[in-house]
Amino acid sequence: MTGFDLDDSVLQAPTEPPFLNGLNPEQRTAVLTTEGPVLVLSGAGTGKTRVLTTRIAYIIAAGLARPWEILATTFTNKAAKAMKDRLIQMIGADGESVGLGTFHGIGARILRKHAAEAGLTPNFVILNSDDQERLLKQIMQEVGIDTKQYAPKIMLDIIQRWKDRGLMPDAVSAGQLSDFCEGRGLGLYQLYQKRLGELGAVDFGDLLLLLLELFKNNAPVLAHYQNQFRYILVDEYQDTNVAQYMLLRLLARGHNNLCCVGDDDQSIYSWRGAEVDNILNFGKAFPDALIVRLEQNYRSTGHILGAAAGLIARNAGRLGKTLKVADTRDGAGEKVAVRGFWSGDREAQKIVELIENRQRLGTPLSHMAILVRASFQTRAFEETLIRAGMPYKIFGGFKFYEREEIRDAVAYLRLIENNADDLAFLRIVNKPRRGIGDQAVSALVAAGKEKSRCLLDAIAAADLRPAPRKTLEAFAEKIAGWAELARKTDLVSLAKRVLEESGYIAMWRDDKSADAPGRLENITEFYNVLSDFETLQDFLEYVALITDADDAPDGDALMIMTLHASKGLEFEHVYLPGWEEGLFPHQKALDESGAEGLEEERRLAYVGITRAQKSGFISYAGNRRVYGQWQNALPSRFIDELPAGHVQADSEIRGGVRAEPSFFTWGKSGRPDFSAPRHAGERSARVGKRVHHELFGDGIVIRADGDRLEVHFDAHGSKKILARFLTEL
Ligand code: ATP
Ligand code: MG
Repeated sequence: MTGFDLDDSVLQAPTEPPFLNGLNPEQRTAVLTTEGPVLVLSGAGTGKTRVLTTRIAYIIAAGLARPWEILATTFTNKAAKAMKDRLIQMIGADGESVGLGTFHGIGARILRKHAAEAGLTPNFVILNSDDQERLLKQIMQEVGIDTKQYAPKIMLDIIQRWKDRGLMPDAVSAGQLSDFCEGRGLGLYQLYQKRLGELGAVDFGDLLLLLLELFKNNAPVLAHYQNQFRYILVDEYQDTNVAQYMLLRLLARGHNNLCCVGDDDQSIYSWRGAEVDNILNFGKAFPDALIVRLEQNYRSTGHILGAAAGLIARNAGRLGKTLKVADTRDGAGEKVAVRGFWSGDREAQKIVELIENRQRLGTPLSHMAILVRASFQTRAFEETLIRAGMPYKIFGGFKFYEREEIRDAVAYLRLIENNADDLAFLRIVNKPRRGIGDQAVSALVAAGKEKSRCLLDAIAAADLRPAPRKTLEAFAEKIAGWAELARKTDLVSLAKRVLEESGYIAMWRDDKSADAPGRLENITEFYNVLSDFETLQDFLEYVALITDADDAPDGDALMIMTLHASKGLEFEHVYLPGWEEGLFPHQKALDESGAEGLEEERRLAYVGITRAQKSGFISYAGNRRVYGQWQNALPSRFIDELPAGHVQADSEIRGGVRAEPSFFTWGKSGRPDFSAPRHAGERSARVGKRVHHELFGDGIVIRADGDRLEVHFDAHGSKKILARFLTEL
């Protein structure tokens, strides 16, 4: 521990640690006011995360607490790792022992430690969303609910929202029930929890919910942690849910030193249960709180900030804040580029060219990012990048761990770690084929239920024919043998032995389909991942807790990720494609959440723009292939909302984006004439004209609103389309 004098003169003390240098006065206050509740509420790039990290360093260096007496939460494991690295830079090895992680990760750790008190087995498995859905589907079918009519995924979402609010089944009140599943949701929730218990499993939401229950029902355990955590710090506080809020309240009651940082304008996870009210009502919940506002933005140039601020100002439900460019930034910088492209493929091509140019001029690829609204958008970029030979990394979507072969491999390891993991058992018992059919599985399930045993232990009691019995007994013996091996050998050797001896590798080797070699490559990559872990449990925990933004790349690679996964990050140059109505704002958000959904989409746009340090590039395409179908699109309303002074707009289609008139007349060339003067009489003149579109063929204009026309195409029916994509016939 470095240790230095902490007294009132610390603000000026000559002995003060170097990491306090360079903080502005408000940041300093937030770092040095260690006692009592503190909220830092401020816009993007104002140094909230930096304040949080520096505060931890300061608390330790000043000797106010030992590293493990600090609890700090961030939104992703990746963010936690970045924070830990910074800490180690500032204060050395002490940074290692700080309790720093995601809420879920911390929940898992505490629950394992107190498994018995929480009613769990210490080696409980954490189910992924796929397993959860399969389990719930099974339950729904058992109780006779038509899973075609009622999607298990929707029911699962409803259960998750209850969990986000800290509600066990017995706490769900009438007002929180929904009609979904013929009003039987609560019963399903009960059954689902019961079944999880039988499996020795928890789901993601349980990591918070069961922790909350543990704290509520076990005063000594709660007191232990209240006492231990002298200082609690929370990043991205605007996206915490009610369960997290309640956990924080309980824990902070010990020492009352809670420091939260966040930005209400960046609340983008309400669809996952986040409650922006947590941040808006902080002052009420903690009346003695110090509320600090930071106004200097150290990340972005003036035009980037101006564009972002102008856009977010359109939201009604916000606190509103000022953002100023810090003196350290080089002024206004480039205007934010807005570009229109003919198609999504053209857009991808152009953006990749721009990135290549930047790279040639010396910017590493990892300092640039493409941020998309929907994951399907990545396809066009991937194809272009592969052709260009440019290394890239896609975040968001748990890609690697979602692959079939990786899930299978993980299932083998899960079953070895926990014999009661029936979901893992069912996944691999006949993979590779061992001649275990549905009948044998049903007999096992029945025996398991009757004897209250897991499937692996139910083999002896099950009513099986000789052949499958023999196979299953051999399978159980193998699992036991591998469990024995797991105690003696490292993870990579274990996994290799398991996947070889089980015949799993041979299965793909013998598979003649085109993707089989790729699958074997992925398994090799899987071994690489394993080599980073000491114990099977550590690895399984890691896999279970992996989040969208955690798949870190090696070497210099361009980052492609969803806007959601980009929170808290920064890049020199940011590309924001696909700003089209229906895609961004996303139609689903508008349909499901109306005006509130629109505001959340706008916040997402704000998050996107404010990731940029030096330049921002926004684009839209007039035509886009979505799941194999061509769709035409209109530019996003967010483009119109960007303040003109901070934007430089252009389009590969004549007329430009901003300069284009909001109607068209027909030029001599047979193309719309954008230079023609605008007057009201011409507006209605367009209705009734026959027009041609490159993809949709011939049609007739049936409605006109500005340059947005509705055309009834002879072969494709009605579509909304921009005037400039049409030719008069
Ligand atoms: P977001 O809202 O996007 O999470 P934030 O408020 O957490 O942003 P940080 O990521 O902490 O902001 O800081 C943004 C950038 O500004 C970082 O590169 C950080 O190192 C830098 N920065 C923060 N404070 C200062 C300062 N006082 N002097 C110089 N640079 C600073
Ligand atoms: Mg931050």
